[in-house]
Amino acid sequence: MQLLKDRIRKDGVIKEGNVLKVDSFLNHQIDIGLMNEIGKEFARRFAGERVDKILTIEASGIAIAAIAAQYFDCPIVFAKKTESLNLDGETCSTEVKSFTRGRTYNVIMEKRFLPKGERVLIIDDFMANGCAALGLIDLVRQAGTELVGVGIVVEKGFQDGGKKIREMGIHLESLAIVESMDAKTQEIVFRE
Ligand code: 5GP
Repeated sequence: MQLLKDRIRKDGVIKEGNVLKVDSFLNHQIDIGLMNEIGKEFARRFAGERVDKILTIEASGIAIAAIAAQYFDCPIVFAKKTESLNLDGETCSTEVKSFTRGRTYNVIMEKRFLPKGERVLIIDDFMANGCAALGLIDLVRQAGTELVGVGIVVEKGFQDGGKKIREMGIHLESLAIVESMDAKTQEIVFRE
């Protein structure tokens, strides 16, 4: 998606430790115009698929999934990273190691929001080692729903998450795939 790649080149900041900061338009401040184009692009890439629900993970996934959901005309559900008294139904949970925080979370969701028979599309902001996506895939499996695929805004192709998901035979669409990036020169190369 050229618009997204151009924006990453213009406003993305490459940090040491293989972290790409996009907090001026995606992760902290959010550019809604760009977000709408991202939503339309996901809808185009999964056109022809029945999507009953979009599943994401808090926090950054929520805005992306919510705007994309308008183009799929379906609700979103987000998995939570903290236990809460509000989670009072039958829940399912899975462990996710956070790439940016370096710790492991128990990610929780109420099962009733993914009823059996529904077709679920997973959407998230980044793919690094694939832990978040694999956790969400596990929740889809536990709920007994059918996985349509995984939509990612930025995949870091030099980390192995994308490879793992594709090798599982899952339909993965990443709107921008970073082939390499250099914190010293701020140079970034995208997969064509
Ligand atoms: P994974 O679980 O695939 O290792 O990492 C994906 C998750 O970590 C995403 O949900 C995202 O929040 C965070 N993440 C991984 N790499 C980056 C990065 O380079 N920049 C930002 N902003 N978040 C990242």
